[in-house]
Amino acid sequence: MALNRDALRTKMTNTVLLIEDEPDIRDMLNFALSRAGFQVWESDTAEDAMRKLDGLLPNLLIIDWMLPGMSGVELARRLRLDTHTASLPIIMLTARGEEADKLKSFDSGVDDYVVKPFSPRELIARVRALLRRVGTPEDGLLENSGIRMDLNAHQVTINGEPTKLGPTEFRLLELFMNHPERAFDRAQLLDRVWGRSVYVEERTVDVHVLRLRKALKPFGMSQHIETVRGVGYRFAPE
Ligand code: CA
Repeated sequence: MALNRDALRTKMTNTVLLIEDEPDIRDMLNFALSRAGFQVWESDTAEDAMRKLDGLLPNLLIIDWMLPGMSGVELARRLRLDTHTASLPIIMLTARGEEADKLKSFDSGVDDYVVKPFSPRELIARVRALLRRVGTPEDGLLENSGIRMDLNAHQVTINGEPTKLGPTEFRLLELFMNHPERAFDRAQLLDRVWGRSVYVEERTVDVHVLRLRKALKPFGMSQHIETVRGVGYRFAPE
């Protein structure tokens, strides 16, 4: 039920899944994040995190690199390959500068990393910055390139003018604007916009992307929904 999940994500407190095997660090971060207003879920292994992620999704993941069993990097890589979790923002905790260097060069799908030892304050600043960057709104408002979505009122305005979108086009635009620049393939779009339990042909995605472009066209905004050759579609900000 991708739709319900996304609705929850915009209206509730931001949730962080913290995957760290060292109890002291976990407790400290849980305390600091809770005080900063986040809801915190905990896992002490990658395997436990993967089980938790089968259900409701958090808004962001904090993953320790060194975990018993599957490493944090392997976990991040697997999450990126699964359409259900592919777009979750990830901050990696690393122990040494050497690991940080590897992270930079290694395409692990990590959005940001923090080198240990770090202050909880620094980490929370990074969490907030990343949530802002991926556009997870605290007030149910999404804004980019002159397009403004009020997710609570279910309204879209473009350069201040209200416009009507069908429910599927609305969800498509919401997903795109939540992840500017990121390319989604058709299977990912089906999973996130239509939900896992619904059977829809991939061709249907193209039909609704076309409708979304058509709705944006009178405002000169259709070019923001870009075709990525051999992949699918993405939102290209100004
Ligand atoms: Ca560890």
